Amino acid sequence: MITGYCVKCKEKGVELSEAKIHQTKKGGFMAKGTHTDCGTTVCAMMSKDNAEKAIAEEAAEKAY
Ligand SMILES: [Zn+2]
Repeated sequence: MITGYCVKCKEKGVELSEAKIHQTKKGGFMAKGTHTDCGTTVCAMMSKDNAEKAIAEEAAEKAY
């Protein structure tokens, strides 16, 4: 499960549904999904290790 900060709910650690891992221009990794409770898009910065782990565990889809 991937969690991030929801700007609408102003809540940390919300669960992202349908998370996809993107790679930023600077080579970082970012998970993008929607907050299950409110439907707002939530982004979470991730380390390469965590991004690859999330993909391996099928917690997120590879989108790069
Ligand atoms: Zn929310």
